[in-house]
Amino acid sequence: MQSVIIGTAGHVDHGKTTLIRALTGVDTDRLKEEKERKLTIDLGFAPFDLPSGRRVSVIDVPGHKKFMGNMLAGIGGIDLVLLVIDANEGVMPQTREHLEVISLLQIKKMLVVLTKIDTVEVEWLDLVEEEVREELKDTPYKDAEIVRVSAVKGIGIEKLKFKIDEIIDTLEPKDINAPLRLPVDRSFKMKGFGTVITGTLLAGKVKKDQQVDILPQGLTCRVRNIEVHNQPVNEAYAGQRVALNLAGVEKEDVPRGSVIAQPGFFKPTDRLDVEIEVLPDFPYPLKHASRVHFHIGTSDLLAKVYLLEKKELLPGEKGFAQLELADKIVAYYQDLFIIRFYSPVKTMGGGRVLNVNPGLYRKYGEEEMAEL
Ligand code: GDP
Ligand code: MG
Repeated sequence: MQSVIIGTAGHVDHGKTTLIRALTGVDTDRLKEEKERKLTIDLGFAPFDLPSGRRVSVIDVPGHKKFMGNMLAGIGGIDLVLLVIDANEGVMPQTREHLEVISLLQIKKMLVVLTKIDTVEVEWLDLVEEEVREELKDTPYKDAEIVRVSAVKGIGIEKLKFKIDEIIDTLEPKDINAPLRLPVDRSFKMKGFGTVITGTLLAGKVKKDQQVDILPQGLTCRVRNIEVHNQPVNEAYAGQRVALNLAGVEKEDVPRGSVIAQPGFFKPTDRLDVEIEVLPDFPYPLKHASRVHFHIGTSDLLAKVYLLEKKELLPGEKGFAQLELADKIVAYYQDLFIIRFYSPVKTMGGGRVLNVNPGLYRKYGEEEMAEL
């Protein structure tokens, strides 16, 4: 059965956690405190059943940094994003920023959830919907449906579940035959189990008792147990949230940002050829030789950006670049990433990986580089 992961996005206090509680019965704010205690509880993540009987998972997005991590970790997994907008406040700065990032990451489907409708007049709702339509019109989500909800009163929740089912029916199945790749978002120790990691299976599948690589550390280990949706399983597939119990490694060996991978398939690298797009709303250009925060999978590290064609990329512009990373990471052709700027701490842009063994540098010319 198709595994589906849903992510939330939206301005702080617009009602994401409350909506997830209405959908799933799970208080994801409370989960954070319990995360270390139980294998089956995953940070900000809750399963629920749709009218079709399908079980899906939804990832809550507490803060800005977490948002990036979760969105990126789940990229192969997040099929649908619920853009939550408070009917009182309408579109706010973080709504817009999240929308830009969601477009950049090419998350396939979006539903706009206009929530807290119990607090406003219907006429006001119509105005807010118009505002949302205007905001979406130049994005890949211009036809996204807007569902009116009150998470507190339970209004519109069933309708939202039907809409989610409808969208899932239109999704393409995932490639479970690709090489295994699982970016780790948490690792911890559990009494009686040992080392446990959680994450979203981006590609391929993983089987109980198989050997896996832990990258970029270059370790190998055996998968002792697997859990999906709190149930032990023998095999897990692309798109599922999983907990793996790993034999023969300590939690410190597999920190957030590590990748559980098909043995011998991926080579960690600290150089990437990429195409970068600077977000249209970013207030400054991206200059040659800038230092940025680079996010890919669940890794987050510093990088230096060498622009290959120009001295700077203006907001809204795209260009080729080579990235020099502070450490080795696991990346793959066509992987998506985000770059952030320090001051202001804001998402600057992102793009896709073109080459993990840089060749563009030569192709686009040492002459151009010399001129910079
Ligand atoms: P988050 O920061 O996006 O996760 O927002 P929360 O879910 O924590 O909600 C922020 C505040 O809005 C809380 O005080 C909620 O009780 C309130 N809230 C959320 N949804 C609704 C709703 O549908 N109706 C009303 N009246 N209040 C809501
Ligand atoms: Mg919240």
